[in-house]
Amino acid sequence: MNFHWHRRIVHLHHPFNISRSRDSRPEKEILYVTCEHEGQMGWGEVAPDRYYGQTLESAERALAQLSQLPVTDPYDMENVFDWLWRRMPDQSATIAAIDSALHDLVGKLLGVPVWKLLGLDAGKVPPTSFTIGLDELPVMVQKVREAGDYPILKVKVGTDRDEAILGTIRELAPDKPLRVDANCGWDSATVVEQCRRLVRFDLEFIEQPTPAGDHDALKDLRGLGIAPIIADESCVGFEDVLRCAGHFDGINIKLCKCGGLRQGLKMIHVARAAGLKVMLGCMVESSVGIAAAAQLAPLADWIDLDGHLLLADDPFEGIGGAAGRLTLNARPGLGVAPIGDE
Ligand code: MG
Repeated sequence: MNFHWHRRIVHLHHPFNISRSRDSRPEKEILYVTCEHEGQMGWGEVAPDRYYGQTLESAERALAQLSQLPVTDPYDMENVFDWLWRRMPDQSATIAAIDSALHDLVGKLLGVPVWKLLGLDAGKVPPTSFTIGLDELPVMVQKVREAGDYPILKVKVGTDRDEAILGTIRELAPDKPLRVDANCGWDSATVVEQCRRLVRFDLEFIEQPTPAGDHDALKDLRGLGIAPIIADESCVGFEDVLRCAGHFDGINIKLCKCGGLRQGLKMIHVARAAGLKVMLGCMVESSVGIAAAAQLAPLADWIDLDGHLLLADDPFEGIGGAAGRLTLNARPGLGVAPIGDE
Protein backbone atom coordinates (compact mmCIF):
# COMPACT_ATOMS: atom_id res chain seq x y z
CA MET A 1 0.00 0.00 0.00
CA ASN A 2 1.40 3.38 -1.00
CA PHE A 3 -0.13 6.46 0.59
CA HIS A 4 0.20 9.95 -0.85
CA TRP A 5 -1.50 13.24 -0.02
CA HIS A 6 -1.82 16.70 -1.49
CA ARG A 7 -3.68 19.97 -0.89
CA ARG A 8 -6.08 21.58 -3.31
CA ILE A 9 -7.91 24.93 -3.21
CA VAL A 10 -11.65 24.93 -3.89
CA HIS A 11 -14.10 27.84 -3.97
CA LEU A 12 -17.44 28.25 -2.20
CA HIS A 13 -20.57 29.79 -3.66
CA HIS A 14 -20.81 31.80 -0.39
CA PRO A 15 -18.49 32.09 2.65
CA PHE A 16 -19.78 29.67 5.33
CA ASN A 17 -20.59 30.86 8.88
CA ILE A 18 -22.04 29.20 11.97
CA SER A 19 -22.73 30.56 15.46
CA ARG A 20 -19.41 29.47 16.95
CA SER A 21 -17.12 30.25 14.02
CA ARG A 22 -16.98 32.93 11.38
CA ASP A 23 -15.05 32.41 8.17
CA SER A 24 -15.32 35.08 5.53
CA ARG A 25 -13.00 33.38 3.05
CA PRO A 26 -14.63 32.38 -0.24
CA GLU A 27 -12.19 29.52 -0.71
CA LYS A 28 -11.18 26.44 1.23
CA GLU A 29 -8.13 24.22 1.21
CA ILE A 30 -8.80 20.53 0.88
CA LEU A 31 -6.40 17.70 1.74
CA TYR A 32 -6.77 14.52 -0.30
CA VAL A 33 -5.24 11.18 0.65
CA THR A 34 -4.70 8.37 -1.86
CA CYS A 35 -3.79 4.75 -1.32
CA GLU A 36 -2.42 2.67 -4.23
CA HIS A 37 -2.26 -1.10 -4.32
CA GLU A 38 -2.10 -3.57 -7.20
CA GLY A 39 -2.88 -0.97 -9.85
CA GLN A 40 -5.92 0.56 -8.10
CA MET A 41 -6.20 3.84 -6.21
CA GLY A 42 -8.52 4.69 -3.33
CA TRP A 43 -9.37 8.27 -2.32
CA GLY A 44 -10.00 9.95 1.02
CA GLU A 45 -10.47 13.55 2.11
CA VAL A 46 -9.35 15.06 5.42
CA ALA A 47 -11.95 17.48 6.81
CA PRO A 48 -10.30 18.78 10.00
CA ASP A 49 -12.17 21.08 12.38
CA ARG A 50 -10.26 23.45 14.69
CA TYR A 51 -13.10 23.07 17.21
CA TYR A 52 -11.88 19.49 17.71
CA GLY A 53 -8.21 20.56 17.71
CA GLN A 54 -7.47 19.38 14.17
CA THR A 55 -5.97 21.31 11.25
CA LEU A 56 -4.49 20.54 7.84
CA GLU A 57 -1.06 20.84 9.45
CA SER A 58 -1.84 18.36 12.25
CA ALA A 59 -3.30 16.03 9.60
CA GLU A 60 -0.14 16.21 7.50
CA ARG A 61 2.00 15.46 10.54
CA ALA A 62 -0.22 12.43 11.24
CA LEU A 63 -0.09 11.27 7.62
CA ALA A 64 3.72 11.41 7.69
CA GLN A 65 3.57 8.57 10.23
CA LEU A 66 2.06 6.26 7.62
CA SER A 67 5.61 5.45 6.46
CA GLN A 68 5.84 3.36 9.66
CA LEU A 69 2.50 1.54 9.23
CA PRO A 70 3.33 -2.14 9.79
CA VAL A 71 0.33 -3.43 7.77
CA THR A 72 0.70 -3.92 3.99
CA ASP A 73 -2.62 -5.58 3.14
CA PRO A 74 -5.53 -3.13 2.54
CA TYR A 75 -8.04 -5.80 3.58
CA ASP A 76 -6.42 -6.02 7.02
CA MET A 77 -8.35 -2.98 8.24
CA GLU A 78 -8.78 -3.86 11.92
CA ASN A 79 -5.00 -3.95 12.31
CA VAL A 80 -4.56 -0.75 10.30
CA PHE A 81 -7.04 1.12 12.48
CA ASP A 82 -5.77 -0.39 15.77
CA TRP A 83 -2.37 1.04 14.85
CA LEU A 84 -3.75 4.41 13.74
CA TRP A 85 -5.87 4.97 16.87
CA ARG A 86 -2.85 4.18 19.05
CA ARG A 87 -0.55 6.50 17.08
CA MET A 88 -2.90 9.45 16.47
CA PRO A 89 -5.93 9.23 18.80
CA ASP A 90 -6.69 12.95 18.43
CA GLN A 91 -6.64 12.98 14.59
CA SER A 92 -10.02 11.47 13.76
CA ALA A 93 -10.36 13.44 10.51
CA THR A 94 -7.09 11.97 9.23
CA ILE A 95 -8.11 8.46 10.27
CA ALA A 96 -11.45 9.01 8.49
CA ALA A 97 -9.63 9.96 5.27
CA ILE A 98 -7.47 6.82 5.47
CA ASP A 99 -10.60 4.76 6.19
CA SER A 100 -12.27 6.29 3.11
CA ALA A 101 -9.23 5.61 0.91
CA LEU A 102 -9.04 1.97 2.06
CA HIS A 103 -12.77 1.35 1.50
CA ASP A 104 -12.59 2.97 -1.94
CA LEU A 105 -9.50 0.91 -2.76
CA VAL A 106 -10.92 -2.41 -1.54
CA GLY A 107 -14.16 -1.78 -3.44
CA LYS A 108 -12.16 -1.12 -6.61
CA LEU A 109 -9.96 -4.20 -6.09
CA LEU A 110 -13.11 -6.32 -5.73
CA GLY A 111 -15.09 -4.46 -8.41
CA VAL A 112 -17.93 -3.72 -5.94
CA PRO A 113 -19.45 -0.45 -4.62
CA VAL A 114 -18.80 0.09 -0.90
CA TRP A 115 -22.52 0.34 -0.06
CA LYS A 116 -22.95 -3.10 -1.61
CA LEU A 117 -20.02 -4.53 0.37
CA LEU A 118 -21.84 -3.29 3.48
CA GLY A 119 -25.01 -5.07 2.38
CA LEU A 120 -27.05 -1.86 2.06
CA ASP A 121 -29.90 -0.84 -0.23
CA ALA A 122 -28.90 2.09 -2.48
CA GLY A 123 -32.59 2.86 -2.98
CA LYS A 124 -32.98 3.83 0.70
CA VAL A 125 -30.96 7.07 0.71
CA PRO A 126 -33.04 9.85 2.32
CA PRO A 127 -33.02 13.28 0.63
CA THR A 128 -30.33 15.59 1.98
CA SER A 129 -31.04 18.93 3.52
CA PHE A 130 -29.36 22.01 2.10
CA THR A 131 -27.64 24.20 4.68
CA ILE A 132 -28.23 27.93 4.95
CA GLY A 133 -25.19 29.34 6.81
CA LEU A 134 -25.39 32.47 8.94
CA ASP A 135 -25.04 35.81 7.22
CA GLU A 136 -26.75 39.17 6.92
CA LEU A 137 -30.46 38.57 6.37
CA PRO A 138 -30.53 39.67 2.68
CA VAL A 139 -27.71 37.20 1.94
CA MET A 140 -29.58 34.40 3.75
CA VAL A 141 -32.66 35.26 1.69
CA GLN A 142 -30.54 35.00 -1.45
CA LYS A 143 -29.25 31.59 -0.31
CA VAL A 144 -32.78 30.33 0.32
CA ARG A 145 -33.80 31.46 -3.18
CA GLU A 146 -30.78 29.72 -4.69
CA ALA A 147 -31.77 26.56 -2.79
CA GLY A 148 -35.21 26.56 -4.43
CA ASP A 149 -34.74 23.05 -5.85
CA TYR A 150 -33.81 21.51 -2.51
CA PRO A 151 -36.74 20.01 -0.61
CA ILE A 152 -35.35 20.42 2.95
CA LEU A 153 -33.48 23.35 4.49
CA LYS A 154 -31.17 23.27 7.50
CA VAL A 155 -30.79 26.75 8.93
CA LYS A 156 -27.89 27.81 11.12
CA VAL A 157 -29.14 29.65 14.21
CA GLY A 158 -27.79 30.35 17.71
CA THR A 159 -27.84 34.14 17.41
CA ASP A 160 -29.82 37.00 18.94
CA ARG A 161 -31.82 37.30 15.68
CA ASP A 162 -33.02 33.72 15.25
CA GLU A 163 -36.72 34.65 15.16
CA ALA A 164 -36.14 37.20 12.42
CA ILE A 165 -34.09 34.70 10.42
CA LEU A 166 -36.61 31.88 10.73
CA GLY A 167 -39.59 34.18 10.19
CA THR A 168 -38.13 35.37 6.90
CA ILE A 169 -37.11 31.91 5.73
CA ARG A 170 -40.46 30.37 6.71
CA GLU A 171 -42.19 32.99 4.58
CA LEU A 172 -39.97 32.18 1.60
CA ALA A 173 -40.36 28.42 2.07
CA PRO A 174 -43.75 27.88 3.68
CA ASP A 175 -43.99 24.15 2.97
CA LYS A 176 -40.42 22.88 3.27
CA PRO A 177 -39.25 20.91 6.30
CA LEU A 178 -36.98 23.26 8.27
CA ARG A 179 -34.21 21.93 10.51
CA VAL A 180 -32.21 24.25 12.76
CA ASP A 181 -28.68 23.91 14.10
CA ALA A 182 -27.59 26.22 16.93
CA ASN A 183 -24.01 24.86 17.05
CA CYS A 184 -23.95 25.25 20.89
CA GLY A 185 -25.20 28.84 20.50
CA TRP A 186 -27.89 28.92 23.21
CA ASP A 187 -27.28 28.71 26.95
CA SER A 188 -29.00 26.45 29.42
CA ALA A 189 -30.68 29.30 31.27
CA THR A 190 -32.59 30.58 28.25
CA VAL A 191 -32.78 27.69 25.81
CA VAL A 192 -36.28 26.54 26.79
CA GLU A 193 -37.72 30.05 26.40
CA GLN A 194 -35.77 30.52 23.19
CA CYS A 195 -37.13 27.35 21.64
CA ARG A 196 -40.68 28.02 22.84
CA ARG A 197 -40.61 31.09 20.60
CA LEU A 198 -39.58 28.93 17.64
CA VAL A 199 -42.54 26.51 17.85
CA ARG A 200 -44.49 28.51 15.27
CA PHE A 201 -41.88 27.80 12.62
CA ASP A 202 -42.74 24.08 12.68
CA LEU A 203 -39.21 22.67 12.96
CA GLU A 204 -38.29 19.12 11.95
CA PHE A 205 -35.52 18.92 14.55
CA ILE A 206 -33.25 21.11 16.67
CA GLU A 207 -29.54 20.33 16.53
CA GLN A 208 -27.08 21.00 19.37
CA PRO A 209 -28.97 23.77 21.18
CA THR A 210 -26.51 24.12 24.10
CA PRO A 211 -22.74 23.70 24.50
CA ALA A 212 -21.36 20.15 24.45
CA GLY A 213 -21.68 18.61 27.91
CA ASP A 214 -24.12 21.31 29.05
CA HIS A 215 -27.18 19.09 29.01
CA ASP A 216 -29.07 20.19 32.14
CA ALA A 217 -31.81 22.08 30.31
CA LEU A 218 -32.39 19.47 27.63
CA LYS A 219 -34.84 17.45 29.73
CA ASP A 220 -37.19 20.44 29.99
CA LEU A 221 -36.62 21.25 26.33
CA ARG A 222 -37.51 17.74 25.22
CA GLY A 223 -40.50 17.88 27.56
CA LEU A 224 -41.96 20.69 25.44
CA GLY A 225 -42.21 18.25 22.53
CA ILE A 226 -41.35 20.91 19.94
CA ALA A 227 -39.11 18.69 17.85
CA PRO A 228 -36.48 15.97 18.31
CA ILE A 229 -33.24 17.27 19.85
CA ILE A 230 -30.11 16.05 18.06
CA ALA A 231 -26.53 15.90 19.38
CA ASP A 232 -23.69 17.02 17.15
CA GLU A 233 -20.84 18.64 19.12
CA SER A 234 -21.96 16.50 22.12
CA CYS A 235 -21.49 13.29 20.13
CA VAL A 236 -18.01 13.13 18.65
CA GLY A 237 -17.07 9.46 18.66
CA PHE A 238 -18.26 5.96 19.43
CA GLU A 239 -17.86 6.37 23.21
CA ASP A 240 -20.22 9.40 23.23
CA VAL A 241 -23.28 7.62 21.88
CA LEU A 242 -24.45 6.12 25.16
CA ARG A 243 -23.61 9.35 27.02
CA CYS A 244 -26.05 11.14 24.71
CA ALA A 245 -28.80 8.56 25.05
CA GLY A 246 -30.43 10.09 28.14
CA HIS A 247 -30.27 13.66 26.90
CA PHE A 248 -31.00 13.65 23.17
CA ASP A 249 -33.43 12.04 20.73
CA GLY A 250 -30.77 11.40 18.11
CA ILE A 251 -27.16 11.90 17.08
CA ASN A 252 -25.44 13.52 14.11
CA ILE A 253 -22.60 11.26 12.96
CA LYS A 254 -19.81 12.83 10.93
CA LEU A 255 -16.98 10.69 9.65
CA CYS A 256 -14.39 13.38 10.40
CA LYS A 257 -15.43 13.37 14.07
CA CYS A 258 -15.66 9.64 14.59
CA GLY A 259 -12.85 8.39 12.33
CA GLY A 260 -14.56 6.98 9.25
CA LEU A 261 -17.03 4.44 7.94
CA ARG A 262 -16.04 1.63 10.29
CA GLN A 263 -16.52 3.77 13.39
CA GLY A 264 -19.65 5.38 11.95
CA LEU A 265 -21.21 2.00 11.38
CA LYS A 266 -20.51 0.99 14.98
CA MET A 267 -22.09 4.25 16.19
CA ILE A 268 -25.23 3.59 14.17
CA HIS A 269 -25.63 0.15 15.73
CA VAL A 270 -25.11 1.46 19.28
CA ALA A 271 -27.48 4.38 18.62
CA ARG A 272 -30.21 2.04 17.39
CA ALA A 273 -29.78 -0.21 20.44
CA ALA A 274 -30.16 2.88 22.63
CA GLY A 275 -33.31 4.01 20.81
CA LEU A 276 -31.66 7.05 19.20
CA LYS A 277 -32.42 8.49 15.78
CA VAL A 278 -29.49 8.68 13.37
CA MET A 279 -28.45 11.58 11.20
CA LEU A 280 -25.39 11.75 8.94
CA GLY A 281 -23.67 15.10 8.62
CA CYS A 282 -20.59 16.62 7.05
CA MET A 283 -18.26 19.59 6.88
CA VAL A 284 -17.74 21.72 3.78
CA GLU A 285 -16.21 18.86 1.81
CA SER A 286 -15.84 17.82 -1.81
CA SER A 287 -17.59 14.79 -3.29
CA VAL A 288 -14.89 12.43 -1.95
CA GLY A 289 -15.75 13.10 1.70
CA ILE A 290 -19.47 13.22 0.98
CA ALA A 291 -19.38 9.93 -0.93
CA ALA A 292 -17.70 8.18 2.01
CA ALA A 293 -20.46 9.29 4.41
CA ALA A 294 -23.18 8.61 1.84
CA GLN A 295 -22.28 4.90 1.79
CA LEU A 296 -24.00 4.70 5.22
CA ALA A 297 -26.98 6.85 4.20
CA PRO A 298 -29.40 3.91 3.75
CA LEU A 299 -29.10 3.36 7.53
CA ALA A 300 -29.91 6.97 8.50
CA ASP A 301 -33.19 8.70 9.36
CA TRP A 302 -31.93 12.03 8.11
CA ILE A 303 -28.94 13.13 6.08
CA ASP A 304 -27.26 16.49 5.82
CA LEU A 305 -24.64 15.66 3.22
CA ASP A 306 -24.50 18.84 1.21
CA GLY A 307 -20.87 19.97 1.68
CA HIS A 308 -20.03 19.42 -1.98
CA LEU A 309 -23.11 21.38 -3.06
CA LEU A 310 -21.68 24.48 -1.36
CA LEU A 311 -18.64 24.35 -3.67
CA ALA A 312 -18.44 26.16 -6.99
CA ASP A 313 -15.65 23.92 -8.31
CA ASP A 314 -15.91 20.44 -6.76
CA PRO A 315 -12.92 18.53 -8.21
CA PHE A 316 -14.86 15.21 -8.17
CA GLU A 317 -18.16 13.89 -9.53
CA GLY A 318 -20.32 10.84 -8.99
CA ILE A 319 -22.44 11.39 -5.88
CA GLY A 320 -25.12 13.67 -7.37
CA GLY A 321 -27.11 15.90 -5.05
CA ALA A 322 -29.30 17.92 -7.41
CA ALA A 323 -32.64 18.64 -5.75
CA GLY A 324 -31.33 16.95 -2.59
CA ARG A 325 -30.96 13.52 -4.18
CA LEU A 326 -27.62 11.82 -3.59
CA THR A 327 -26.86 8.82 -5.77
CA LEU A 328 -25.13 5.65 -4.70
CA ASN A 329 -24.05 4.48 -8.13
CA ALA A 330 -22.85 1.08 -9.37
CA ARG A 331 -19.18 2.04 -9.78
CA PRO A 332 -16.69 0.09 -7.64
CA GLY A 333 -15.51 1.76 -4.43
CA LEU A 334 -17.01 5.10 -3.38
CA GLY A 335 -18.32 5.78 -6.89
CA VAL A 336 -16.57 9.12 -7.35
CA ALA A 337 -13.95 10.11 -9.91
CA PRO A 338 -11.79 13.21 -10.44
CA ILE A 339 -12.98 15.73 -13.00
CA GLY A 340 -9.98 16.37 -15.25
CA ASP A 341 -6.51 15.64 -13.87
CA GLU A 342 -6.83 15.96 -10.11
MG1 MG B 1 -24.25 20.58 13.50
